[in-house]
Amino acid sequence: MNPLRPETRTVHLPQPSLEGSGPIKIPIYQTSGFVFEDPAVFAEGMRRPNGAFVYGRLSNPTVRALEQAVADLEGGVGGVAASSGMGAINTVLLGLLKAGDHLIAQRALYGGSAAVVADLAARFGVEVTYVPEDDPEAVRAALRPETRMLYLETIANPMTQVADLPGMCAVAREAGVITVVDNTFASPMLCRPIEHGADIVVHSATKYLSGHTDVLGGVAVFATEELHERVWHFAVELGSTADPFAAWLTLRGMQTLPLRMERHCANARLLATRLAEHPAVARVHWPGLPTHPSYALAAKLLPDFGGVFSFDLVGGRAAGETFMRSVRLALLAPSLGGVETLVLHPATTSHRGLDAEELAAVGIGAGTVRVSVGIEHPEDLWADFEQALEHCRA
Ligand code: PLP
Repeated sequence: MNPLRPETRTVHLPQPSLEGSGPIKIPIYQTSGFVFEDPAVFAEGMRRPNGAFVYGRLSNPTVRALEQAVADLEGGVGGVAASSGMGAINTVLLGLLKAGDHLIAQRALYGGSAAVVADLAARFGVEVTYVPEDDPEAVRAALRPETRMLYLETIANPMTQVADLPGMCAVAREAGVITVVDNTFASPMLCRPIEHGADIVVHSATKYLSGHTDVLGGVAVFATEELHERVWHFAVELGSTADPFAAWLTLRGMQTLPLRMERHCANARLLATRLAEHPAVARVHWPGLPTHPSYALAAKLLPDFGGVFSFDLVGGRAAGETFMRSVRLALLAPSLGGVETLVLHPATTSHRGLDAEELAAVGIGAGTVRVSVGIEHPEDLWADFEQALEHCRA
């Protein structure tokens, strides 16, 4: 007979015993905190990223499972998960840079990241120099005594320029500068930047890692314990924490990442190749096409070329709009990396923060359409694109 009253028993619920068996899947640890028997263990758990679980803003078993899974795929020593890709990127940038530091950033970046870099310069006293993604000598020329970080994207959003990771990272390393690489577009299936000399890899887990367009998340992976600890301490301060259910959905999606990436890349190859031959299309930007400026570098660095490409129509912006209105299977929607094929207009959506000059500098045209190719049957996708292109003929 339980001597406690109902008011107490409903608060202190019995826990099931797991003796003799355990779950196949990592459970969702939907709790904001953890209980201790020993106050010393409690105190110690607050001091480092991989200590005992204490409080959800510091760590959580489901979230740590995600951090370790991504770190393992990327070849890092540990990870810090965040509530979105921008959460992970801001945690790394704000956690490691301070006023007076100098940042060297790739010119062609995801619009959200470009906005953060511009903000660091405008409001936080960080000086920024922009460099092309494939010019290690430009990095060398930009170096200053106060340079702290080089920031790159493996495959840039949306024009898919490929960064010369080995060359750019080597120059930074020689100068004692940390290289951070956004590996969202490549995923660890196509590239592991730490193997090429990067110190930190960031992901929007919203995209390929989770892969099903149903969750937001981000992960930063570290090549050294020292960087892991520094960024973890700042993440705890910032509160950019991942939610356990979001971490669980991402882990669930990651189990099919290799299969999905194969299909994304194969479908992108078919669509990009056929579009490049279509009379209504002026140019296709996919690094697997020999016409892409990054083709030679991409062929050396990557086993395949990713599931995102952009293209320009002969009829310019009006034709681009007609195309986006006319697709039936592909969806006009934000984001990328999910199982469904999505199209959008970067100049007015993902890269809306860039002015005309900045858009031109990264190659985004007024009519450029970005496609995130899903895992549907490629011939169904091509039939959809073909009928939409019929509407775009001048
Ligand atoms: N990095 C890249 C390359 C992206 O494309 C995006 C979003 O589109 C992000 C980061 C930001 O991710 P999230 O939307 O999860 O914050």
